Amino acid sequence: MAWLFLLLASAGMAIADERLLEVTPETIPGLVLDLRYASTNNITGKALYPEARAYLRPETIQKLRKVAKNLQEEGYRLVIWDAWRPASAQKALWEAKPEGRFLTPPSKISRHNRGTSVDVTLADRNGNILEMPSDHDEFNAKADEDFSDVPKEAAKRARTLRAAMFQAGFSGVPDEWWHYDLRDWRDYEAIKGDEMGAGR
Ligand SMILES: [Zn+2]
Repeated sequence: MAWLFLLLASAGMAIADERLLEVTPETIPGLVLDLRYASTNNITGKALYPEARAYLRPETIQKLRKVAKNLQEEGYRLVIWDAWRPASAQKALWEAKPEGRFLTPPSKISRHNRGTSVDVTLADRNGNILEMPSDHDEFNAKADEDFSDVPKEAAKRARTLRAAMFQAGFSGVPDEWWHYDLRDWRDYEAIKGDEMGAGR
């Protein structure tokens, strides 16, 4: 894999850690990036990432390529809200919402910290983000996988997304329709990221 990192480095792409690759529409064709923690449009009200760049394990990216392709055949584009998350961002989120049902306390390793987890949603063919059961990090009953309390069209989209993610080898969680993990996420160590100097 070393040649690939060299290639990306020479192309001027940022590398957060040698175990991670940058996620772009080049690595996942059709992808839309809407990195909420790189904007103020998140539960902290602050930009937690200095740059709107996303990183994941190569294995995660490979599976997302499959997801994006299958979704495109159904008229949708895959959107990433968050990917690998450094420990510092996890801490900031916990401080904004210290509830263990939804977020991981700084004392534990978040699955996002392993590069094996993603927060995703759907856009139309033109890249417009579609209405889904809830917003990102909207921690209430609309966010869980019981979609009986949300508009039918939104429920249908969330089920389409779920089917595509499961088919590609991801598992989900019951409380957040947007969150998915590689099924073998436990086999990957944390990549804390705060020593990287890039600030994320
Ligand atoms: Zn998540």
